[in-house]
Amino acid sequence: MTNKIGINIHSGRIDGDLKLLQQDLRAVEQAGFNAAEIPVHGVDAVVNGELREGRAKQVKKILSGFDLAYSVHAPDRLNLRDFHYPEIQRKVFAASIKFTATIGARTFVYHEGSLMDNGEGVTEEEAREIEVDGLIDLGRLAEAEGVTICIENVNSSLIHLTKLTESVGEESVKICCDVAHSYLNASTLGYDFLRSVQLAKPHIRHVHVNDNFGKGKPGVSPPYIEAMPMGIGDLHLPIGWGCIPYEDVFRILKEYDGIYILELQERFFENGYSMLQELLEDLRDMLERAT
Ligand SMILES: [Zn+2]
Repeated sequence: MTNKIGINIHSGRIDGDLKLLQQDLRAVEQAGFNAAEIPVHGVDAVVNGELREGRAKQVKKILSGFDLAYSVHAPDRLNLRDFHYPEIQRKVFAASIKFTATIGARTFVYHEGSLMDNGEGVTEEEAREIEVDGLIDLGRLAEAEGVTICIENVNSSLIHLTKLTESVGEESVKICCDVAHSYLNASTLGYDFLRSVQLAKPHIRHVHVNDNFGKGKPGVSPPYIEAMPMGIGDLHLPIGWGCIPYEDVFRILKEYDGIYILELQERFFENGYSMLQELLEDLRDMLERAT
């Protein structure tokens, strides 16, 4: 098993505080992780669609103090199917790609677009075409910057994402497989979870892992404190706490040689980071059993 294992630097927890970023990275490195995912929005790198270059360099300097590989996560609301602010969405996307390149990372994770309530008169099919068009342009920018855009499945299936990626047809636009989202959506939408991972496999360049109980939808659940005891929603639990068949997933992804990002809820960073090492070991054991 040669995969790097990283963890998400939590955007809401960091909330623009670079000292806290540094502190969290130190704890992550000490726990034995060898990668981390940096949120563009958590470090205040982009304002009104413009990259703050000085800030990006400041972040890069902090990151270079650790023996970690890095990927970057987009602002959660970055959305190429937003028809309220289509221009600013593209600008933020482009600035985030530049941030990724500036800090020396090669993977930029973008949540698949969602029409929500913002496209009066726009059909799902039209919205999809506009997103594909945007991803072709941004994919070319990413390629020039040495970055791969990895589209993450949120509310739809990995099969849908595979088709979207194929429609874009750029080598620099691939898939971030969020295993936990896929597991939730499989029960809601009624598709075969493991087969969806298998089908998407040729396009997967990045993987997010965490656990849940397959109840509810990503992004829709009671407040965490209520959801956790009920096991409802996108809980971002450590591996082994929920019921996702990770051994089977890792077996399917045996040839995947990229980074696994353990994407945890904020509370698992607390209590002096005491849980991080154990949670990493649980994930590593599961990966080793499967591969
Ligand atoms: Zn994710």
